[in-house]
Order: sequence, then C-alpha cells, then structure tokens
Amino acid sequence: VFIAFEGGEGAGKTTQARLAAIWLRDHGYDVVTTHEPGATKIGMRLRAMLLDRDTTGLSDRAETLLYAADRADHVANVIKPAVDRGVIVVSDRYVDSSLAYQGFGRQLPVEDIARVNAWATGGLVPDLTVLLEIPPQAGLRRLSAPADRMESESQEFHERVREGFHALAEAAPDRYLILDASRPQGELSREIQYRIREILPD
Ligand code: C5P
Ligand code: MG
Repeated sequence: VFIAFEGGEGAGKTTQARLAAIWLRDHGYDVVTTHEPGATKIGMRLRAMLLDRDTTGLSDRAETLLYAADRADHVANVIKPAVDRGVIVVSDRYVDSSLAYQGFGRQLPVEDIARVNAWATGGLVPDLTVLLEIPPQAGLRRLSAPADRMESESQEFHERVREGFHALAEAAPDRYLILDASRPQGELSREIQYRIREILPD
C-alpha cells in the first residue's frame, strides 16, 4: 500500500503524514514514512541544488528533471522495495507535486511532465493521495524557517500550484481525498483514517 500526501506550502502534509503513520503502527501495520525531495543520499544533494536560494538561473526543464531524478532514486531505493515487502509507505509529496509546481506553476506542459515521471517511477501510482488545500498566503504564513527557493516564488505562482493540485484531484476522485487544511488537525486526521481504512488489506 502506498499513500501520498500533497499540497502547497504550510498545508500540514508532514504533520498529517506522521499522524497517519502513528495510527497505522498502532493498528499493527509496518509503515515507512518518507518525503520528497531528498529522502536518499543522492536525493539530499538534489534537494540542496533545487531549494538553495543561491541556486540561480536553473531552467524550468532542468528543474523538472532534477525533481524527477530525485523521485526515480526515491522509488528505486525506498518506496518500491518497501511496497514489495508488504510495508505501507507514506510519502510527504510525490508525482503530483511536479505536475502542480512545474506543470501548473512553471507552466510547462503537464502531459510531458506526467510522461517523464511515469518513466522515472516505473509507473508506480499511489493507492491514495491526500490533498491538503490551503490558500497560499495562509500556508506561507505558517512556515517557520526562512523561505527556500520555491517558497520565494510569487503569489501568482503559488496560486497556480494550488489550482493545479485541485484540478488533478478533481480529475481522479477515486484516488484522492481532498481536505480543507484550515480545519482542526484532529478532524483532518480522523477523516484521513476513515479513508485509509478503505484501502487497507485485512
Ligand atoms: O519539504 P518541503 O515539502 O517543504 O520542500 C519541498 C519544496 O520543494 C517545497 O518548497 C516545494 O515548493 C518544492 N517542490 C517543487 N516541486 C516539486 C516538489 C517540491 O517546487 N515537484
Ligand atoms: Mg516547503
């Protein structure tokens, strides 16, 4: 079983992914929690290249391919081996982040990014994707660390990303749980648990 958490900056993906993992472990499941970009050794170097504010002039296509390279390494070394062992994998971000940020945000063709990522991941698609929706301004306000290269993008960029995530989720309602991230944390995690129950093996 593979579950992804998606959404814009400050939506609470990390928190909800962690709560879901705790809940699953309490119910006796083996869980691996992971994140993108930067879950592997090479991935950490790619993450630094992608997010350091002193990275300037990175082309949109190169950016897309670096995220895809991180993801390819992540799938090959972390996600796929765990899923194959029967472990539940919970990832903070996955392919939809690239479709939303590089596709809708950077305005590159979404179809191309989907194809590149299908190749990078060997076609591995989450069983469930939880989308936490938050208006960009509210999300960015929640961040504590100084903004990274992507977080420093314009308001319009983050608005396109938000709309992109929403469009992706609406297009495949069976695979998504769409939640308003401004709701209380406990309510959100309970809704997530209900939905996860539906996809669990007995
Ligand atoms: O750890 P966190 O999810 O905050 O860091 C990932 C960063 O990378 C975010 O700031 C997000 O904007 C950016 N990102 C991106 N494109 C992706 C995945 C993440 O711009 N495909
Ligand atoms: Mg961030």
